[in-house]
Amino acid sequence: MFFEGFENKLNQCVHCGLCLSVCPTYKIFGYETDSPRGRITLVKALTEGRLTFSEEFADHIDKCLDCRACQTACPSGVQYGLIIEEAKAYTYMKNPPNFFVLTLKNLVMRVFIPSRKWLRTLTSFLYIYQKTHLNKLVRKILPKKLKEMEEMLPPLPSPGAYSYFKKDTVYEPIGEKKGRVYFFAGCVQDAFFPKVNRDTIDVLRYNGYEVVIPAGQTCCGAVHMHGGDPEYAKVVAKQNMEAFSENIPIIVNAAGCGAFMKEYHRIFGEEATREWRTRIKDINEFLAENGFRKPKGWVDLKITYQDPCHLAHAQGIRKQPREILTSIPGLEFREMKHPDACCGSAGIYNIVHHDISMKVLQMKLDDIKGTGADFVVTANTGCQIQLTYGTGKRVYHVVELLAEAYRKEGL
Ligand code: SF4
Ligand code: SF4
Repeated sequence: MFFEGFENKLNQCVHCGLCLSVCPTYKIFGYETDSPRGRITLVKALTEGRLTFSEEFADHIDKCLDCRACQTACPSGVQYGLIIEEAKAYTYMKNPPNFFVLTLKNLVMRVFIPSRKWLRTLTSFLYIYQKTHLNKLVRKILPKKLKEMEEMLPPLPSPGAYSYFKKDTVYEPIGEKKGRVYFFAGCVQDAFFPKVNRDTIDVLRYNGYEVVIPAGQTCCGAVHMHGGDPEYAKVVAKQNMEAFSENIPIIVNAAGCGAFMKEYHRIFGEEATREWRTRIKDINEFLAENGFRKPKGWVDLKITYQDPCHLAHAQGIRKQPREILTSIPGLEFREMKHPDACCGSAGIYNIVHHDISMKVLQMKLDDIKGTGADFVVTANTGCQIQLTYGTGKRVYHVVELLAEAYRKEGL
């Protein structure tokens, strides 16, 4: 049912409860069964045969955002992310969606998401739909669930924005060459935020890197793995490992993708992924590790930074984005009280559990408001979408501001 050694992972929990105060679902519902400790207890009871699978069990597991704030708070080193993802996969297997939902899901996950061409085409249609204000009319007739989804869409890019990468592409470094890197473009990241990708490439080039973008790359597979389709996660992960075959760093600018790509050992085992794992680098991590060119251009903004869960909790990357942001002249940085608390995006959680997601978002918006900052900066696709919706303003990626500073000095 679960992988070998799973029970040992569960037994690491000593039930101290130190994780409870950081858990968004515990804050909202106040039930032990909606806390990290409670969920571990439920899964343990199930594996030991003291509990049988039920709708109620599935509901408590399903409501977890997999934000991993509890993993950071845990003094016993419980690998909560691993536990909850196994439990979610089990729940999905025991409680599969009906034929209609499954067909729709397969269409999205196996046709649109892995295909850059399809996703870009769909986004280009949605761009026209937004530009012609058809959305205002359509919202009046859409059923509630679809209306919620439609309203979450950020302002979409024009089809011309995709010119940065259409086939195998190599960008030359600007100035003296320091090295050669791959760039991972992502799926929704590429379709919704091609400017962030363009800026990432420019920042790397300005720092002396030759940037290689293989056309054979595809979605990282996180959405499949977390969405109950591990078989297809394996298909896309294999395609990526083949596309990024040269032993050079692979730069990722979406925290969720980077976190999962660092975990491909869960699919292919430790031995096959030892080298691969060390090559995956978040853009903030890579720039800080290798010493980035300190910007001289002035960016006159008052900002706060939202730690993406899959950057702070899953990859332990916190100080690097702050190091970059605070190096930008003119930028006023204001820290939130809880910058690493989840924003409620969590993959497709904001669609599936829209009401809970909105409560989590509200806590984040209150925290943002308390800083007095005008704009939010982050480093993950889902957070950018969720916070754009929540703040009603443009949300920046860290590299966009660094690129802006570089441009002002002549990039
Ligand atoms: S992953 Fe997040 S939502 Fe889930 S139990 Fe941990 S803190 Fe709570
Ligand atoms: S902090 Fe860790 S050990 Fe303590 S209850 Fe939470 S998961 Fe268990």
